[in-house]
Amino acid sequence: MNEPTPTPRTDPASLLRQHGLRVTPQRLAIATFIFSKPMHVTARHVHEHIQDAFPSISLNTIYLTLGQFEACGLLNSFEVHGNTIFDSNTTPHNHACCNQCDTIIDLTGDAQPAEQPQSPPQLAQWQIQAEQHIWLGLCPACSHTA
Ligand SMILES: [Zn+2]
Ligand SMILES: [Zn+2]
Repeated sequence: MNEPTPTPRTDPASLLRQHGLRVTPQRLAIATFIFSKPMHVTARHVHEHIQDAFPSISLNTIYLTLGQFEACGLLNSFEVHGNTIFDSNTTPHNHACCNQCDTIIDLTGDAQPAEQPQSPPQLAQWQIQAEQHIWLGLCPACSHTA
């Protein structure tokens, strides 16, 4: 009998515990925000969001916390326009980012690993585990007003 494993993605406290992180009120507030739905956030965005509840929390603490989440596999991050974007959707996927309004969308259709990955020749000695692409351009709204 195969018992389906329950995955309580929705309970941030047990999510933290499952990943070996002690549950503190600040971590819980950050986790509750970013795991409520798949989202792309900067540390500044998270900071603004939880500052009402934790007025004394520093931006640096947010960075450290998000880094801890990332280190244990709860978050992915990537760089766009010089900003570190944290992504609470950890399934492999690609992104498109608007150069004008910074809108970021997930491209999930081509997330399957290619049968024969076309990696650059410089990576011949590498054992590639994932690849990510970011398309940059103007989103439909911005290209209409450009
Ligand atoms: Zn745009
Ligand atoms: Zn994403």
